[in-house]
Amino acid sequence: FGFKGCQKIRGPQIRSLLDAKDFFLFDCDGVIWNGEKAICGAAKVVSALIRRGKNVVFVTNNCTRPRDNYLHKFYRLGFTDVTLEQIFSSSYCSALYLRDVVKVRGQVFVVGCDGLRRELQQAGVAFVEEADDPEATIYDCVLAPGVKAVLVGHDNKLTFLKLAKASCYLKDPECLFLTTDNDPWHPLSGGRILPGSGSLTAALEVASGRKATVIGKPSRFMFECISTQFSGVDPAQCLMVGDRLETDMLFGSNCGLDTMLTLTGVSQIEEAQEYRNSELTANHSLVPDYVVDTIADFLPAFEE
Ligand code: PLP
Ligand code: CA
Repeated sequence: FGFKGCQKIRGPQIRSLLDAKDFFLFDCDGVIWNGEKAICGAAKVVSALIRRGKNVVFVTNNCTRPRDNYLHKFYRLGFTDVTLEQIFSSSYCSALYLRDVVKVRGQVFVVGCDGLRRELQQAGVAFVEEADDPEATIYDCVLAPGVKAVLVGHDNKLTFLKLAKASCYLKDPECLFLTTDNDPWHPLSGGRILPGSGSLTAALEVASGRKATVIGKPSRFMFECISTQFSGVDPAQCLMVGDRLETDMLFGSNCGLDTMLTLTGVSQIEEAQEYRNSELTANHSLVPDYVVDTIADFLPAFEE
């Protein structure tokens, strides 16, 4: 009906798309694996693309692990030809942003997991180090001097004291306010969910009356990191493959990439069709160009 996008493709159409593109960006959770379980056939797809001389990178909003830890996970799940240089996480890119873009002088206050701090440490970005003191309260704690940025990410040891301190640092308009990503929640097995970095960011946005700068998808910065590290990346030659419309498809649109939704994760094709049929043109940036059931649908395209 004159609507573009959301095209379910198979067989020969997948083959011509794979031939046409030379740079593949894969989201991780919901595309490559679900938690600790690899998507069936995904490791073969990644190997086949690499063997064919395609560039493959991974773009994840999961800020809880440093990159070397991801590399172990790739190995553990059977993705044995992945290298560190192919992994772009929101924690790694946050460290690059603080070091290379804003060139932060002073300390960063982190609301996040140890993995996020490890990434800052490896980039040489100073952060406030403090022991978790269960007795300490906001009434008697001492604030660290020279805090020039608050960086928020998923934090499995979140305390009220951390939120309170972050709110205090953000009173200073010179103190930057960054979030690794704004993901609202993540699916767990058994119908459970995990509140994402976005839920913590929202709490601090309310407390501070400020808006955080988003480093991860759908912001363009992760694509800038990729472009810096791989010379000659042409957006027209890229395919962004993801499972979440509001992060992955929007990220692809924001960066001028063709997008593909895979149905092994969060978003359903009906949601994509609703965005496509929406009268709000902003919603059209969330519509994938292509849809597949799983990236394992790529496999027949590699057979001679
Ligand atoms: N952040 C956290 C804390 C997660 O647990 C997950 C997925 O499990 C994500 C982000 C999303 O990761 P991805 O961008 O690879 O889907
Ligand atoms: Ca995902």
